[in-house]
Amino acid sequence: MKKRIFALVFAITLMALSVFPVRALENPPILSELSVEEQLEILREQGVEISPGPEDAEYVTGLIPLIEADPDYYPYSISNPGTREFAVQIRDAVNRYYQRGDRPRPQALAARYTLQDSTAAGSWREDFLYYNCYAYALGRTDGHYWPGKFSTVPNYSDFNLQDSIYNLACDVKADLKSASLSNRCVSMTTVRPASLSSGQSCICIRRGPKDFHFMKFDSSSWYHKPGATNPLRYKYTPSVSRNWTDEAVLRGEAIAATTYYDSTIYYFIYSKNHGSTTYTWTGNHYHSGSRHYYEYGYKCKNCGEFTSTTWTNEACSGPPCSTPWSLTPVPEVP
Ligand SMILES: [Zn+2]
Ligand SMILES: [Zn+2]
Repeated sequence: MKKRIFALVFAITLMALSVFPVRALENPPILSELSVEEQLEILREQGVEISPGPEDAEYVTGLIPLIEADPDYYPYSISNPGTREFAVQIRDAVNRYYQRGDRPRPQALAARYTLQDSTAAGSWREDFLYYNCYAYALGRTDGHYWPGKFSTVPNYSDFNLQDSIYNLACDVKADLKSASLSNRCVSMTTVRPASLSSGQSCICIRRGPKDFHFMKFDSSSWYHKPGATNPLRYKYTPSVSRNWTDEAVLRGEAIAATTYYDSTIYYFIYSKNHGSTTYTWTGNHYHSGSRHYYEYGYKCKNCGEFTSTTWTNEACSGPPCSTPWSLTPVPEVP
């Protein structure tokens, strides 16, 4: 009897030793069912650099279930190259965690998704993979661009997505005026233009916690292209009261959003040449000898830039100057 019990205990112990550790390796806990802290910790152990704060945590924990369902997950709908790289690191870390690197991969169990805010604009073409929202907004098909690419930030390694939306917008304005894009007339505003003159184009930029996005206006509708996916026609007019998302269409399949854009929206109205001008004071002036000098010029009514300037002067008994310079009447057009 004792012998039998001993044998039984021995057998159970052996089973426990041999089976449970292996089982633990083969079936690690489902990552997405762990707490947010545990999920982030496991990915950090796998070498993924996750910034503290809610933005990365929200994005990472949103991606994990997608990667669990599809080991080949790729962030096609993301426009920012750095975020795409980050998502690929997360995917590879999740696959290492499940030790499914070299195994045959199961078919993705992607849930059917229906676009909510846009409809596909035209049918799929493989070359959509090679350009993003910014290129598309500019009417180009030749790259994945970021604000400043054509002017202030030529190298992506210097691009900072966390810069303010105002600074990103200034970089876009500099791009539009750059030698590559060559638009002389560019105005930047947070107010959506009511109408455009002939020859004018309009695009807008918005930023979210993990990505930037662009839309463009074209014959009564707004269009956009999430990352490397199909161009879409937006159902609405851009407005800060409705977040944008990266929901997308890839090879005819609608895919659900993985991130959103919630910043102020900056609009750019631009054209190759300036519009009509008014002759007015530039604001510059100085006193010299017995005369006061004022700078006047032709100011573009569209963008506010002076297209040409000239100095004029009049007798002045100052300093202190007798004629308040701000009240000087505009001289006749020379
Ligand atoms: Zn102008
Ligand atoms: Zn003076």
